[in-house]
Amino acid sequence: MLDVQKIRKDFPILNRTVNGKPLVYFDNAATSQTPQQVIDVIVDYYSNYNANIHRGVHSLSQEATDAYEQARLKIQNHFNAKHSHEIIYTSGTTHGINLIANGFSSILKKGDEVLVSALEHHSNIVPWQMLCERTGSALKVIPMNANGELVMSEYDVLLNDNTKLVFVNHISNALGTINPIEDIIEKAHSVGAAVLVDGAQSCPHIKPDVQALDVDFYVCSAHKMCGPTGVGMLYGKEEWLNKLPPYQGGGEMIAEVSFEKTTYAGLPHKFEAGTPNICGGIAFGSALDYMNAIGFDSIATYENELLDYGTSELLKIDDLKIYGTAKEKTSVISFNVGAIHPYDIGTILDKMGIAVRTGHHCAQPIMDFYNIPGTIRASFMFYNTKEEIDTFIVALKKAIMMLS
Ligand SMILES: *Cc1c(COP(=O)(O)O)cnc(C)c1O
Repeated sequence: MLDVQKIRKDFPILNRTVNGKPLVYFDNAATSQTPQQVIDVIVDYYSNYNANIHRGVHSLSQEATDAYEQARLKIQNHFNAKHSHEIIYTSGTTHGINLIANGFSSILKKGDEVLVSALEHHSNIVPWQMLCERTGSALKVIPMNANGELVMSEYDVLLNDNTKLVFVNHISNALGTINPIEDIIEKAHSVGAAVLVDGAQSCPHIKPDVQALDVDFYVCSAHKMCGPTGVGMLYGKEEWLNKLPPYQGGGEMIAEVSFEKTTYAGLPHKFEAGTPNICGGIAFGSALDYMNAIGFDSIATYENELLDYGTSELLKIDDLKIYGTAKEKTSVISFNVGAIHPYDIGTILDKMGIAVRTGHHCAQPIMDFYNIPGTIRASFMFYNTKEEIDTFIVALKKAIMMLS
């Protein structure tokens, strides 16, 4: 069992007040908080060995390079990638998706088809629309049902020999649905299509094994899993990464440069142009250490308790409707109360120290499906408590009274 009171002591921000009230932070699906262990790594980097990597012969540069490459190995190990050069540092999920979308613009042709799920974040929709515009290939959508689950029988119908790529999130940030990616990947491969999984929302809660999944590309952001903003990772199968052209040109990504011809560096450097977020990469590694020390099984068990408790307490409120009631879901609860605008509730909750998200959660197609402008979203991490859910429910009831 996970000792939540002990864990909370690791997160200095959880001690602060907001508008005179103790902070209740339920916006974890937007970004998670950072434990002292990771903050210490960041301070240590800038205090003791800040230098550019892969270049200098001097000691600081060596130390920074070693720590950065050590963190890559931690990421490789965490996701069970076969090779460390299959782990590409990115600035986050959005960057990883754009890198792959750009690569495929030299592979896709007119008549090819790419499939996206109805449950996607805008960053897993727009780059593919841009790709399809450039290449003349067609974008098709795997539909969802009212529970917020993908309609897998429709997926079977959509897949065909023209399907070249499928992209789907592992967990929906707006509804918390856990998608059946094993099945999605297996079926895509049976028609020869590659699969990119957006893991931004799954990595904080589960530990994916990219080899067991046999996924072609998997992307995530460190800031949703106790790390800093501005860094993330792209996993790609070696064969694919060798096949795709580089995304950006610059330093670090070359073997030799002359005005006549430039040759590119091997993996992973081919995709890592310019000075990266060195400190961020190192801190990402320590965030993984931190979460693994707690253990992803304990995290999942505890977060499921929070989800069940929060769901049953919310459903006691009159006129409250939860969007996203999939059988398989994680600790995200999206809801509305009667005809009250989510923004109004969110504003009053903030006055009472409670941070939730309101709006379309960068997933407008889902909101359109339900014909609503947005929802209130409470998303829990392993450092949240049932007591915080109680505080939230009391505050929510007050807000509803004020607004009705
Ligand atoms: C947050 C999120 C993204 C975007 O992540 P960035 O860190 O902003 O690049 C993409 N997809 C999902 C499912 C997300 O939750």
